[in-house]
Amino acid sequence: MGHTGGYEALLQRVREIYGAQPALQAFAPFPNDLAPQAVTPRLRAPYALLRAETKLASRAFADLHAAIIAAGPEMLWRETYPEGHPETAFMERWGCFSIVGEGGPFASRQVRIFVVYMPARLYYPWHTHPAEEQYLVIAGQARFKRQGRQDEILSEGQVMEHESQEAHAIETEDHPVLCLVTWRSHLNTPPVLVPDTQA
Ligand code: FE
Repeated sequence: MGHTGGYEALLQRVREIYGAQPALQAFAPFPNDLAPQAVTPRLRAPYALLRAETKLASRAFADLHAAIIAAGPEMLWRETYPEGHPETAFMERWGCFSIVGEGGPFASRQVRIFVVYMPARLYYPWHTHPAEEQYLVIAGQARFKRQGRQDEILSEGQVMEHESQEAHAIETEDHPVLCLVTWRSHLNTPPVLVPDTQA
């Protein structure tokens, strides 16, 4: 049994972007084993922030941005890190849901595909995961930090990759950011926060 409406529209927008972006296909081909799965929607506060953004606009990916807004109430907004601790207070404004993978409307054994949203002036602290990861900036801008490397400020259309277990952090300044994120390995091991390795 397939999905209708918002989930399929969202997936179709992602498929189109993979088709148009060689860097995404080079990291991981668009999955060919997708299977619809039931979602238990859970809205979290960052969705309202995303909806209210007036400074977030995408030229090349406006259709995906619109599909994310439209499908938002039907998604499971993730509690990626245990809440209620000082170090996870950023979660109150950090938004993430799966399109492909656990909690999302489509299953695959090949990849996980997420949406990540951060409003302006938010710091997503250092973390690691065994999964190899790729970010595509859909709209806005953020500073991407990797252990032992120069920070990079990325905006729409730019891509960042994180190696397995490479510590990384993301910080927004004057602009919010909306990203499409792919994992291509170790799909079932969640990320963990780690101490600030650049202090
Ligand atoms: Fe990551």
